Amino acid sequence: MKKISRIFIGIDLLLLCVIMGKAAEGQMARFLQSGPADAKERAVMNVSKGESGVMDLSMQDMAKKKVALTFDDGPNANHTGALLDGLKERGVHATFFLLGSQVEKSPELVERMYEDGHLLGNHSYEHVNLSSLSDKAAITQVDLANEAIYQITGEYPEYIRPPYGCWKSNLDYQTTMIEVLWNVDPLDWKTDSVKTIVKRVLKEVEEDDIILLHDASESSVEAAFQIIDKLEKKGYVFVTVDEILFD
Ligand SMILES: [Zn+2]
Repeated sequence: MKKISRIFIGIDLLLLCVIMGKAAEGQMARFLQSGPADAKERAVMNVSKGESGVMDLSMQDMAKKKVALTFDDGPNANHTGALLDGLKERGVHATFFLLGSQVEKSPELVERMYEDGHLLGNHSYEHVNLSSLSDKAAITQVDLANEAIYQITGEYPEYIRPPYGCWKSNLDYQTTMIEVLWNVDPLDWKTDSVKTIVKRVLKEVEEDDIILLHDASESSVEAAFQIIDKLEKKGYVFVTVDEILFD
């Protein structure tokens, strides 16, 4: 549970949601409306060569550092398919926080995510600041998204990433959802530079981090592949968020 405390330390999310929620909402709404055209486990052992030139394995090499990739706002009809192809090629499982309204548009992509072994979570039905709604309206947003996902997978999601990270703790009990935030946010939705996104993540990332990305643009998808390839070389292994939160 170390991760949960790290996520919350130093940030008064409620205050942030009140101050920033509206501004962020405007930006994200524009991002979502602009559409894709505009928006621009493996446990592989590290084998090192010793002085003798003979391949040997050290205990340190065997202790992999875990990190989780998460993708919000999907599925995206134009970009999620390419992302799923690349994740499959690399044998990597990610966590997708899905919008119910998007799930209904591209059910085949959600089916593929589920069949490929990714973890599916809730990101509300239509990307709203849940902390600004009445409890009843917020719960409806959560339930509608859960139902859309259940209709495809036959399983209700257990995890939620509330849009803008804005949640109310009483909703934990009323919805039984587990809130998942993030540690590393490269603001991929603000840039179409793959290099910038990759650089921001590599600069900040540490063991047991949860990385926030969006499968909503070509640059984010390509950046995700480069992040995986570069971090695997540094001894990281990619897991779904449940393995970080509860291991
Ligand atoms: Zn979002």
